[in-house]
Amino acid sequence: MKIIVVGGRKSGVYAALLAKRNGNEVFLTENSKTPEVIEMLPLLDKNNIPYEIGGHSFKNLDRFERAILSPGVTLNSPIVREMRTRSIDIVGETEFAYSQSPSTKIIAITGTNGKSTTTALVGHILKNAGFHVVTGGNLGTPYSQLLVENPNPEYAVLETSCFQLETIKYFHPHIAAFLNFTEDHLDRYANVEEYLFNKKRVFENQTQSDFAILNFDDSVVRKIARTVISKVFYFSILSSLEKGAFLKSGEILFSDSKVEKIIDKNKIPLLGLHNVQNVLVAVIVGKILNLENEKIEEGVVSFEGLPHRLEPVRKINGVLYVNDSKSTTPDSTIKALEAFEEKIVLIAGGSSKNNDFGELVKLFPNKLRKLILIGKTANEIAEASTNAGFTNFVFSRKLEDVVKTAKLEAQPGDIILLSPACASFDMFRDFEDRGDQFKGIVKNL
Ligand code: ADP
Repeated sequence: MKIIVVGGRKSGVYAALLAKRNGNEVFLTENSKTPEVIEMLPLLDKNNIPYEIGGHSFKNLDRFERAILSPGVTLNSPIVREMRTRSIDIVGETEFAYSQSPSTKIIAITGTNGKSTTTALVGHILKNAGFHVVTGGNLGTPYSQLLVENPNPEYAVLETSCFQLETIKYFHPHIAAFLNFTEDHLDRYANVEEYLFNKKRVFENQTQSDFAILNFDDSVVRKIARTVISKVFYFSILSSLEKGAFLKSGEILFSDSKVEKIIDKNKIPLLGLHNVQNVLVAVIVGKILNLENEKIEEGVVSFEGLPHRLEPVRKINGVLYVNDSKSTTPDSTIKALEAFEEKIVLIAGGSSKNNDFGELVKLFPNKLRKLILIGKTANEIAEASTNAGFTNFVFSRKLEDVVKTAKLEAQPGDIILLSPACASFDMFRDFEDRGDQFKGIVKNL
């Protein structure tokens, strides 16, 4: 088949490689020339895949039978609109990869928050139990790349974004989990309903022999049960359930025909109640796949978590330094503060995403020992904090100075927490760079 791939970053390039390896004639087109694009070119050259970058020429489009779109390419972009006027079969990268490994069972994880953590945790538990499993998707390793590097796995645990779901046709997860739903990405969708509609598509090709895992505590997600035909398991940190996994009196329980204890909450190495929810999802996946309870527990206990998400860095003089650089919204920082009983020296601020700090600052008087403010939003947070009755803050500029100040302010037993509640682009390349710099400084103290 003659295939054109739109998008020359990781997802597009690996889709091209997968297509080529499976005997297709492939051409790739990319409209930018960013370093991320340039970096991928040697792979295309090595695999003899012709390409154009820095613009779509729209040349000879008629000769292609199929187009594969990277998740970043929107359906109403000019090249896609042009393709739609011809008889080109248009599929997304995830859909395409899915079609190339029909025997692989998909476990898809979607929702607004916690996708990466839950995906990695489920992958870890299955691998630990001896399954041939690949793990990735949306932000990590694209499914096409997983298949290029590891053909025909038994299971693929995929973090699945709403953008990827826009372009599915037959994509059919054996297990699909919907973690939670809050308004996000409203820049790309006309309204909340359209966004939810896209996310719900993860269930649309499921049958009665498949499974849906839904958050009982989230009123929007709970209602999805009415629209799916697969078997539903709920999870909850608030209520006991007849069919699902839940938290009760410090224990993680699973109930189907009987109630079983899986693990004590305090054995979970990840911090915070939000992570208990992520563990509940993983427990359900394990039970669906008939893992022994001991194997599920073993996997949960040995999971180290992902970097930059409430990541413990080092303990010095009884003070624990924690890197939560992935926190780019006030909501995430609220989750981080709630994860600790101890007093916290909080490092916050960065570039603005037009967030409202009103709810976050309410926690400051009770939770914080000191607040150290950095970045463009420092003044805004200071003002909100003052309004909430907490004025024990200082401003700082260089990250080295920030950490020094935090060290001086903290008392034994405290937590020093980098959880900025803001994006990082005013001072850093991205949230990873911000977290890595913080860890580097702390390790050299
Ligand atoms: P995603 O891949 O969906 O962005 P991550 O696993 O990277 O999710 O977590 C990002 C942030 O979302 C975390 O730092 C935490 O603040 C928050 N979070 C994680 N899990 C959950 C959850 N189950 N419910 C609500 N918030 C969560």
